[in-house]
Amino acid sequence: MAERPLTVAVASGKGGTGKSCVAASLLVTVPGLLGADVDVEEPNLALLLGAEAISSSLVEIPWPVIDDALCDRCGECVKNCRFGALLMFGGGAPVPNDLCHGCGVCSMVCPRKAITEVGRPVGEVRLCRRGDLRLYEGRLHVGMPNPVPVIDAALRAALAEGRDLVIDSPPGTSCPMVSAVREADVVVLVTEPTPFGYADLDLALQVIRELGKPAMAVVNRCDLGDADIEGLTERYGVPVAARLPFSRAVAESYAAGNPPAATDALWRDAMVTLWERAKEMAGR
Ligand code: SF4
Ligand code: SF4
Repeated sequence: MAERPLTVAVASGKGGTGKSCVAASLLVTVPGLLGADVDVEEPNLALLLGAEAISSSLVEIPWPVIDDALCDRCGECVKNCRFGALLMFGGGAPVPNDLCHGCGVCSMVCPRKAITEVGRPVGEVRLCRRGDLRLYEGRLHVGMPNPVPVIDAALRAALAEGRDLVIDSPPGTSCPMVSAVREADVVVLVTEPTPFGYADLDLALQVIRELGKPAMAVVNRCDLGDADIEGLTERYGVPVAARLPFSRAVAESYAAGNPPAATDALWRDAMVTLWERAKEMAGR
């Protein structure tokens, strides 16, 4: 029987820890992986990999349109919108605002059938390629407040291929990060041994524990700080799979647009170890 594909999400409690470097390095080191950049407010994986967009599709959410003539101003839609995205002013019909998540509840609860929906573009999913390497990139349109529909669309496209997948998740520990790691078999948390790195990793570990996901940590720039990352991850039963010291050559290579593993043997070896451990954790 064919082995089930493995999905690994690379996440971090805070931005700037080297999360995209790890995702890009996995993609250039382990043959045959597909990528998904769902850091949709600031996607940079294609840039780091030198990949070009070869196709693109719009992501739309259902946007409520209210028929002023049918609406009797009962306020049911406003009351039931849990995002506060409908407001009524001066006796007029409700007006949707940018907080709308396109959940469709308002049209369902309207007793007058006064609400219809139209598609509202909120972002796009691009398929990018460099040689045999392919990745899906979610990109939120500027000014759109909710990244989750774009994250979901990019992940759907990538998961539909049924291949081993590396997800570059949004930083932080809120809805976008949870949406990005939800489908992963294993989560790799990238951190640094600074007080901020420690505090944000603690939050990320709590979220991952709540989600019940197997996880491991990577300590990047492990020689530039003395926070007790191992002590912290041990409390959550999460192993540290790699410790990567600061390297001027790696920083220069990154600044020139190359993933660390493209130029550094230590990174390449760490990526091989990371993938093997992820496979073990997921029972592949
Ligand atoms: S679609 Fe959902 S989020 Fe948008 S206005 Fe209606 S109830 Fe609120
Ligand atoms: S629920 Fe329907 S009828 Fe009532 S205020 Fe909203 S749009 Fe108007």
